Amino acid sequence: MARRRLDLTFPPRQATKAIAYHLVKDFDLVPNFLRAQIQPGQQGRMLVEVSGKRDAIDAAVEFLGREGITVSEAASDIRLDTEACVSCGLCTAVCKPGALTLRESDFSLVFDKDQCVYCEACVSACPRRAITLTF
Ligand code: SF4
Ligand code: SF4
Repeated sequence: MARRRLDLTFPPRQATKAIAYHLVKDFDLVPNFLRAQIQPGQQGRMLVEVSGKRDAIDAAVEFLGREGITVSEAASDIRLDTEACVSCGLCTAVCKPGALTLRESDFSLVFDKDQCVYCEACVSACPRRAITLTF
């Protein structure tokens, strides 16, 4: 079983395509949609985590490409301004998945992107505006 986070960009004509159906029915994948910006007739973006057989994920990525959807590995969409961060820990208190923690040894902030569900709770919690989320 494999798991990948994919960043999908849809051209306007594909913005309402039911990709969840295809991922489940055609490739036996379990999609978890973490973020989406979809407007009919406009370019759309989706961040989706898919779980399933490695070969099936590869085949699904090829399918999405053939459908005109640009697929890239989801990188860290959370940006931390280390100059602005004062390690107060407020963001760690609101991060329910535990993606943000303070390192015990030096109290520096650590971000584990594999745990992040892009809920943005940390962005508004930070009094220093040290965290930004781009998507
Ligand atoms: S976006 Fe949500 S899950 Fe991700 S680091 Fe911030 S609070 Fe945690
Ligand atoms: S709330 Fe802001 S300043 Fe405090 S630890 Fe988090 S990122 Fe750093």
